[in-house]
Amino acid sequence: MAKIDTTLHHPGEQITEIIKRIYHAGMTTTSGGNISIRDPDGNIWITPSAVDKGSLRRTDIVCITKDNDIIGRHKPSSEFPFHKAIYEARPDIKAVIHAHPPAVVSFSIVRQIPNTNIIPQARHICGPIGYARYALPGGDQLGKNIAEEFMKGFNAVIMENHGCVIGGTDLKDAFIRFETLEFAARTIIDARTVGEPNYLSDKQIEEFESQIPSDLPELETTEHPSDELLIRKAISDLVRRACAQGLMIGSYGTVSVRWYDNHFLITPRDIPRWEINIEDIVQIKDGKREPGKLPSRAVKLHEQIYKSNPNVNSIILTQPPNIMAFGVSKTKLDVRTIPESWIFLQDIPVICFGNHFFNRHTIPDTISINAPALIIQNDSIVVTGDKLLNTFDRLEVAEFSAKSLIMGKPLGDLIPIDPQQIEELRKKFLT
Ligand SMILES: [Zn+2]
Repeated sequence: MAKIDTTLHHPGEQITEIIKRIYHAGMTTTSGGNISIRDPDGNIWITPSAVDKGSLRRTDIVCITKDNDIIGRHKPSSEFPFHKAIYEARPDIKAVIHAHPPAVVSFSIVRQIPNTNIIPQARHICGPIGYARYALPGGDQLGKNIAEEFMKGFNAVIMENHGCVIGGTDLKDAFIRFETLEFAARTIIDARTVGEPNYLSDKQIEEFESQIPSDLPELETTEHPSDELLIRKAISDLVRRACAQGLMIGSYGTVSVRWYDNHFLITPRDIPRWEINIEDIVQIKDGKREPGKLPSRAVKLHEQIYKSNPNVNSIILTQPPNIMAFGVSKTKLDVRTIPESWIFLQDIPVICFGNHFFNRHTIPDTISINAPALIIQNDSIVVTGDKLLNTFDRLEVAEFSAKSLIMGKPLGDLIPIDPQQIEELRKKFLT
């Protein structure tokens, strides 16, 4: 995906890139949804009415000036009135995304609001969620109902029997919130398919958010030998692949690879994962970071895992939606489903929420050759391995297993491979 610069890229370019992402991620249909940006002059740029979302170009985007002149070759989206109402209600909002993503719509049509306390960063990024009553699309009443919710301070609003509308300080901010809300909604639905979701308290989330680890000291100089450059490229390619495959969202996920000894390279914090490039990857050497760059907040956990596990040479921490259904519901992700799943993962231990910050030894001590992956409740899965591609493969196998378990639920309960068959697998494939 192209990197978006919300200051230097033209609003039309930003909108076409984001609508493409939303469409290809299955979060809008060809005709549904609309996006707008308010530029510094007060003009509003918006997607056109009835133009294919799969093939929009910059020149298809319509501009409505602050004097209400319409510039462009199409008609503006029929939902322009509510975009305008939001901008009038909230001068701090500069971009708006509206769509009908399937999981959010599931909540909208049963008239419920997803509880984002399911995962800390979902709550942190989406904030509390507003709820706008149904009104005729394109009408002033719908604009009024939505603007009232934004006036209350919400940046994400469920639209009754319709979809959602998200605001942001720029389009990237709005997109990350949009993507995270759909992820949270899907996780809750899948968790309810396999068990009962466990929600965190506001206090647990506050405590968690305040555990920002102190920054590592900076290295004085950094060298980039060719083997270091190869790792950099492998990490940035793999993170983008994980996003494209639905295994990682923009707001969360860390990948690292051991360089030599206990030195490693790791993804940065505060950069949307689908934009990470080679220059963003952070080198960690002797417990120090590459100058001028901030590594993932989980950097110390990665460091500890490498120190305690000489056989581990790559680590992925992420929140794939199907695995997280188990991660947030205290339902065991039993991988004794098919030989491949058990051979790749063995039994997956579950660690209590908060352990990667509060108790730094639990995770590194739990990881072993016989436990290459573990789940941190209400947070993520940690997958380890030798080569990065093998670790990624292991992650994919875990996500597929979780998906089969969720899809199979209406068919009946899992009949696992029995202990004797497991022993046969162990002898043949793992010893
Ligand atoms: Zn709509």
